[in-house]
Amino acid sequence: MDYDVIVVGARVAGSATAMLLARGGLRVLVVDRARFPSDTLSSHQVQLPGGALLRRWGILDRLIESGTPPARGVLFDPGPAVLRGDYQPHDGVDAVYSPRRTLLDTVLIDEARAAGAAIEEGFIVANPIGNDRITGIRGRAKNATTDRTITANLVIGADGKHSTIARTVQARTYRARPPASAACYAYFADLPVKGGEVYTRPDRMVGLWPTDDNLTIVYLGVPAARFSAVRDERGFRADVSEVADLGVRLAAASRVEHLRATTDLPGLMRKPYGPGWALAGDAGLVMDPITGQGIGNALRDADLLASAILAGDGLAGGRPHDRDRAFRDYHRRRDAARRPIYDLTARFASFRPDPAGELLFPALSENPAQVSRFLGVLTGTVAIRDFFSPANLRRIVGTRTLLRMVAARSR
Ligand SMILES: Cc1cc2nc3c(=O)[nH]c(=O)nc-3n(C[C@H](O)[C@H](O)[C@H](O)COP(=O)(O)OP(=O)(O)OC[C@H]3O[C@@H](n4cnc5c(N)ncnc54)[C@H](O)[C@@H]3O)c2cc1C
Repeated sequence: MDYDVIVVGARVAGSATAMLLARGGLRVLVVDRARFPSDTLSSHQVQLPGGALLRRWGILDRLIESGTPPARGVLFDPGPAVLRGDYQPHDGVDAVYSPRRTLLDTVLIDEARAAGAAIEEGFIVANPIGNDRITGIRGRAKNATTDRTITANLVIGADGKHSTIARTVQARTYRARPPASAACYAYFADLPVKGGEVYTRPDRMVGLWPTDDNLTIVYLGVPAARFSAVRDERGFRADVSEVADLGVRLAAASRVEHLRATTDLPGLMRKPYGPGWALAGDAGLVMDPITGQGIGNALRDADLLASAILAGDGLAGGRPHDRDRAFRDYHRRRDAARRPIYDLTARFASFRPDPAGELLFPALSENPAQVSRFLGVLTGTVAIRDFFSPANLRRIVGTRTLLRMVAARSR
């Protein structure tokens, strides 16, 4: 075999997995059709658990030194009340960071290379090869006229939501949801923010986050049916400007670079392993970006998958029984961690009215400790089922309002 592992896709899932495997002593090749630094359609919030992994891997400081600012607190304005709070520190990280993808992905690739992984940019994978078991890839460099075949004990598809690897091996798909929302975002200079700002309204969600180069990224999520109304700059500005004080602030700011917009926002989960192959990041599980989870998810997949492989059982050399167990465990842990936020994200992305929220948020806004826990839910450090348990909700709103919330939800 040419390599122990070939990783297809060199962004957050791919480079992080390759870095960890190379640090563990494996012979790793990473290929990507892009050449880096390369931008991609994505805003940038790295939630606290993702930041904690970057810190553990020695990468977070590089981002901070490059100028990525922290957002330690959030203003969350759902309409009936305004919540303000700070994140509780998690594994040494107390802020959401929003590095531009041109920076984050390039730093991760550098780290994978420094760990000994071979990186081939501008290489397009046509398909994985093998019969009963995947044994490598076939593809070609962008300027080449002939295909190359490269072999490995394991091929990892970290090639995004339209994964060629997942499609070719026919990875089982489940809990699929068609796109429900649309996303537009742009960068602004002279739009100061103290931390993150999130505004939710019945037909839109607006997020403001500080990013590199003293810019603020403004993200607008709307029901997919409203995409045509907001996909150009005029519509985008008009929609954002109707929310809170954003009209005045946007008028004083200047847009930098072009507006980005998309409706390609599906939700789906795939079985992430099979004979000779595995999936990481969006290739294996993708959700609407409205909750800003995908980058952290990809980093956590990298961590779990690399551990499963490095336990000694994930490659062809391991005993088949142990190998299966390691991957099964990866699958189980991924889904157990992700299912609750996957479902909550689908709910947000549907823009279904939430009458219970009208009752919850005013009471919540007067309880700083619970606001902090609520921010923990959004960033992934507090379990959704704990925060929304009847006992916790009763502590926030009292028994009578809780009963009204239950009645409102069931209507
Ligand atoms: C509008 C929008 C906003 C978002 N905002 C956030 C946010 O704020 N926070 C957050 O956490 N997440 C966000 N996300 C989600 C996040 O972008 C993804 O979850 C994340 O990029 C997934 O990383 P990945 O490495 O799995 O895949 P990708 O980033 O999609 O990378 C896949 C790579 O594979 C390569 N590739 C694909 N096919 C081939 C092939 N055949 N041959 C060679 N190379 C190939 C591609 O070139 C690409 O570089 C957002 C997404 C969108 C669309």
